[in-house]
Amino acid sequence: MGLKVCKFGGTSMADGNVLDRVKNIILSDAERRYIVVSAPGKRYGDDVKVTDILYACFDAVQREGRCASEFSRIRARYTGICRELGLDMDINGLLDETEKAIDAEESADFTASRGEYLAAKIMAKLLGAEFVDAADVIFFTDAGRLDDEATNGAIAKRLEGCAMAVIPGFYGMGADGKIRTFSRGGSDITGAIVAGAAGATLYENWTDVSGFYACDPRIVNSPRGIATMSYKELRELSYMGANVLHPDSIFPVRKSNIPVQIKNTFRPDDAGTSIIPISQYVPSGNVVTGIAGHKNFTVIHIEKSHMNDEIGFVRKVLSVLENYNIAIEHIPSGIDTMSVVIESAQVSGYKLEKVLEGIKNAVRPDVVRVTENIALIATVGHGMSSSVGTSARLFKALAEAGINIKMIDQGSSEMNIIVGVQNEDCEKCIAAIYHEFF
Ligand code: ASP
Repeated sequence: MGLKVCKFGGTSMADGNVLDRVKNIILSDAERRYIVVSAPGKRYGDDVKVTDILYACFDAVQREGRCASEFSRIRARYTGICRELGLDMDINGLLDETEKAIDAEESADFTASRGEYLAAKIMAKLLGAEFVDAADVIFFTDAGRLDDEATNGAIAKRLEGCAMAVIPGFYGMGADGKIRTFSRGGSDITGAIVAGAAGATLYENWTDVSGFYACDPRIVNSPRGIATMSYKELRELSYMGANVLHPDSIFPVRKSNIPVQIKNTFRPDDAGTSIIPISQYVPSGNVVTGIAGHKNFTVIHIEKSHMNDEIGFVRKVLSVLENYNIAIEHIPSGIDTMSVVIESAQVSGYKLEKVLEGIKNAVRPDVVRVTENIALIATVGHGMSSSVGTSARLFKALAEAGINIKMIDQGSSEMNIIVGVQNEDCEKCIAAIYHEFF
């Protein structure tokens, strides 16, 4: 018999009715044994996610020394869920403890983590399953990275012989003994870690859409769904803005070739998207699998005659960025030119000036130029490497749409072509590429 780890996102945890639906989904398949949950998300358009209310609680602690002024909203969400489910548990006692701990800890990560903690307590009670605290099994290193070895060992040991467990997503224990969270949307990563450590046969990620689309449905009306994609394609697309799954959730499952299935809690019979190792990948016949875009990048262009002969040139430029703790997205280069693409938020304010000055001092370039407000659009698909004329089609489509391309970068795996355009051309660019290939 297989073993499925299922992660349910915020909208699947939003209120008692949805939780009841989730319970039925879980109990309809005996292989669904380890459940990872997010904090309750939005119930309707302009509702507020529990995690966002918790960050407001932390701000209140900073301001007023206690979270009481904001915590009433948290109390209302969780008592409402328990009431709707008719659950016999001391939710008020749990909330009292949580409120006190938030005041005492004075930590943003601890406060935010309580959304998942409380949600998992409720889900465990609803299913009659064991509650396994993520703080006891997920560990971070001193540098704030996941401690794979300690985490995998602890999860495997804790779940041994456990028929069914509920584990809160989004957080774990730091090397300093304090709670730490992943970045936003990080419960997807928790689900993948549990799937990897428990030796799952499938990681099901339950959300509010029926999988990935070939492009953002807010840009193109009813785009084609993606039935199957590889881990690599997922990484490229989610990193570039297809935000169905956290881009980092691929690593823990990829090691053991565990497939990921995206499913829709509100349309459980829809097939969704399967994400599988390349060894199991059967080409769909489409050259392109998907297109995704991300706005707000800054490009620093550097020119210097004989750059190609100057040993250490690129290293010196990159050292300047490293000294300012700036992560680099892409480095397209020519013979006497190189460009560095950075997320604009990383060089906001005076930092950009400092970086430019540093580059001028380090390599004495002939020209340094900056282009801001750039959107990067990635066209992704394994089919591209074996198909002649793909880039010609892509660039012709952009020319016909009147889009000025500022930058081109093709990944070494030949499964993606990235173009940089002005922010305001982002949607038009995605639509033009979509209509060319689909
Ligand atoms: N609740 C957290 C967030 O809103 C984590 C998650 O849902 O995955 O980002």
